[in-house]
Amino acid sequence: MAKKALVTGILGQDGPYLAKLLLDKGYKVYGLMRRYSNPSFDNLDYLGITKQVEFVEGDMADESSLLHLIKAILPDEVYNLAAQSFVGGSWQQAKLTTEINSLGVLYMLNAVKLFSPTTRYYQASTSEMFGLGNDDGYQDENTNFHPRSPYGISKVYAYWMTVNFRESYGLFTANGILFNHESPLRGIQFVTRKITDGVARIKLGLADKLALGNLDARRDWGFAGDYVEAMHLMLQQDKGDDYVVGTGENHSVRDFAREAFKCVGISDFEKYIVIDARFKRPAEVPDLKAKATKINALGWKPKVTFPELVKMMVEADLKRLKK
Ligand code: NAP
Ligand code: GDP
Repeated sequence: MAKKALVTGILGQDGPYLAKLLLDKGYKVYGLMRRYSNPSFDNLDYLGITKQVEFVEGDMADESSLLHLIKAILPDEVYNLAAQSFVGGSWQQAKLTTEINSLGVLYMLNAVKLFSPTTRYYQASTSEMFGLGNDDGYQDENTNFHPRSPYGISKVYAYWMTVNFRESYGLFTANGILFNHESPLRGIQFVTRKITDGVARIKLGLADKLALGNLDARRDWGFAGDYVEAMHLMLQQDKGDDYVVGTGENHSVRDFAREAFKCVGISDFEKYIVIDARFKRPAEVPDLKAKATKINALGWKPKVTFPELVKMMVEADLKRLKK
């Protein structure tokens, strides 16, 4: 019989890539979505899999909906990707961010424990938990957490609750501590997609400036399509564990912009950029770089390089805007 996976965050960036991977492996995929009067299936359509996903309604902030779904589906695997995932918005919506990203995880783990304790549970943890990182210039599974935003803090709670359900009740749980990963499906508010969309607009004469905040922040950016493979791999091990996932290479926001403008033949890119204080954060995470040797030892490696990622995103935005 086909394995059953419940994927939350099915309409976001990672949900569709993961759903495609699981469908290709023969899983039956249930996709949890909130109730919308007018939902957008664009990201699933982009990968051509909308019709293959079985949608179920629920909300991470509504415990009863999660209890009901776990009891009804009895999934072999749960991938909890749902979140208020935008760091920049988390200061303005700190309570909502906490309810979805922290309490929602407690509700989901509890539902698994009560109704389907053999389910394997994946938690979408994040390098934002490291925040200030450490002096070694990279972060791994042993690096201390020093989150710098309500988002990062909400995810630290979720991380520890995921560990605690493993230690207290023997559930199979795994934290994927993923560094930033991007794609043509990335939300437009995130800096990579904002840049590739802005560059495409400038190239096509639809805009003449791109407003950004801190150009010096450095991130370890990879391709979302590669990272969902790591999520699946974690749940195929003998026991649940926690893994850092990243490329081991980082670049500044300025580097990303330079590379994106290069894709459309513009070298004097800084003349198109304006610094707007609205896009700076009350507390910044200056520098993230993964040391992913633990997941590498399981056979996972990123395939898409930084220049390939930027090119893929710029080309997708050019195509979309030309339409
Ligand atoms: P995303 O594009 O923002 O997708 C998040 C999804 O969560 C959206 O589809 C959203 O649904 C859903 N969601 C939000 N609140 C919900 C609620 N109350 N109930 C049910 N669903 C809800 O994020 P992503 O980039 O795919 O990231 C996936 C996960 O990985 C997130 O947990 C994120 O925090 C984490 N993460 C991401 C990165 C990264 O670089 N992308 C790095 C580390 C960790 P709507 O469509 O209804 O808004
Ligand atoms: P994050 O790493 O999850 O916060 O992902 P983002 O893509 O939102 O931000 C990555 C980095 O880019 C952060 O250090 C931001 O401060 C920086 N940044 C600079 N300008 C912007 C901007 O205009 N929008 C966003 N979202 N981030 C920006």
